[in-house]
Amino acid sequence: MGYIIKVFISFGLIYSMQTKYVIVLGSLLSGLGKGIVTASISKIFKFYGYKAMPLKFDGYLNYDCGTMNPYRHGEVFVLNDKSEVDMDFGTYERFLDLDMNGNLSITGGKLFSEIISMERKGGFLGRDVQIVPHLTNLIIKKIKEVASDLKLDFLVIEVGGTVGDIENSYFIEAMRQLSLTEKTMFVNVTYIPKLDVVGEQKTKPTQIANRNLMQLGIIPDILVCRADCKLAKNVKEKLALFSNLPVENIIEDVDIRRIYDLPKIFMNQNLDKILIDKFGLNKAVLDKALVNKWKTESSVKKTNLVTKISVVGKYVNLHDSYASIIAALEDAAIFNNTKLDINWIESEKLEDSSLVGSLLDDSKGILVPGGFGKRGIGGMINAVTYARKNKLAYLGICLGMQLMAIEYARNVCNLKDANSLEFDNEAEYKVVNLMEDQKDIKLKGGTMRLGSWPVQIDKNTLAYSAYGKEMAHERHRHRYEFNNEFIDIFEKNNMVFSGRSPDRKIIEMIEWDNGLGIGTQSHPEFKSKPGNPAPLFKKFIRLSMDVK
Ligand code: GLN
Repeated sequence: MGYIIKVFISFGLIYSMQTKYVIVLGSLLSGLGKGIVTASISKIFKFYGYKAMPLKFDGYLNYDCGTMNPYRHGEVFVLNDKSEVDMDFGTYERFLDLDMNGNLSITGGKLFSEIISMERKGGFLGRDVQIVPHLTNLIIKKIKEVASDLKLDFLVIEVGGTVGDIENSYFIEAMRQLSLTEKTMFVNVTYIPKLDVVGEQKTKPTQIANRNLMQLGIIPDILVCRADCKLAKNVKEKLALFSNLPVENIIEDVDIRRIYDLPKIFMNQNLDKILIDKFGLNKAVLDKALVNKWKTESSVKKTNLVTKISVVGKYVNLHDSYASIIAALEDAAIFNNTKLDINWIESEKLEDSSLVGSLLDDSKGILVPGGFGKRGIGGMINAVTYARKNKLAYLGICLGMQLMAIEYARNVCNLKDANSLEFDNEAEYKVVNLMEDQKDIKLKGGTMRLGSWPVQIDKNTLAYSAYGKEMAHERHRHRYEFNNEFIDIFEKNNMVFSGRSPDRKIIEMIEWDNGLGIGTQSHPEFKSKPGNPAPLFKKFIRLSMDVK
């Protein structure tokens, strides 16, 4: 007995010392795809059977992404545990097929608010509170806690921002300190420009970036080089020389069409071997079946079918605002063996009803995604009418469901002045109203109805044919909801209420009785995965393909 306990304790100790850290930094410029690199490295560890998870540092002083405009910062991604996080978390979850938690997102805002609240409670009595060591210690404590709570073999840390930014300097310092006691590896994601006039790839910016990093006490173990075309041999050699690295550790990351191919592209350059060697994992075995499964699930199949879907929203000029919508449409298209033709429509353009027909012409399905505020609402409602009258497939996500209700109220139930309280607090028929438990909330961040909620689905409905079960769990992010006072009149006019909260109080899904249109209060796109598309997206693409 005593022996068993001892083994357990020593195993536990060994285990807790075992998490190893890969730190992904970016130099030169933002937008190089550090998130995809972080996800790909985590995926490679997974291919070898290890438990790996990404974590992200963001230097901004917002507590989380919940109060950020998607038009500036990209989509706000929502986790099961109600956290509102950066869009990179969508990439991580889709690559790794897992549910992450909010502790894996560490922002400047979270750190500063925690450290000041510790200070107010007397946690540092007699001391001046400093970035080093207090904030850096807090960072190290937090990442070690996550690593041990999740029993990780590897924590792959993406440092948001660019080396040299004031915002991420304390994260980088914390990582330098971490490397003094833990097994760590630094990956510098950089950019190799090609000057057309001289026809040559230039290494100087990266040399300078490496020098900046070295001044901070960090020598990168690997360079991941974003570039428009393959790196010439002499360019790689030069980069290696100026980075104190063998040439094999200079990894190319050339523009690709499918981001999901990146783990394999890295492995073709032996990045997996470099990781294994560095961490001394000589017993690591590649699970080839897992690699093949990923390839089958994530790659686009050859097909001549093309399905045109119009996405009508107000943030369409920045596709990052709809990153998970795009990913979920793609997952569903691959599943249904069709290519996608996404027609992005700025909703304000559809406010002129005479243009609706020509802008949506030859679309087979219309999708209205989530959104906030009044701008462009009239155009979205016109798109819903067009889909209903022309028997196209329709998928309304959150706001898109609320607008489906407003459109139906106005044009089918004859409630001409129907609206949402969000857009018109004088409207006679508020078919979409503020949720009861939102009424007293004054604070903005993290106060919506967030995270995963159960949805009960009625049999013999389109929703049921999509999910194939009576209970589903989907992620939510909203303040308004369908107003139950209008259920009767909608039902009399043949609207189908196909999904509700288990206590029957919240309408979660509504559908037209023609079997072509459905709206959901949730965001099913957040749970869609390659190989396991969100049921409503799968159904929506199928229905669109069948539209004549
Ligand atoms: N603005 C609407 C609400 O708060 C819809 C939100 C959304 O689409 N995510 O309820």
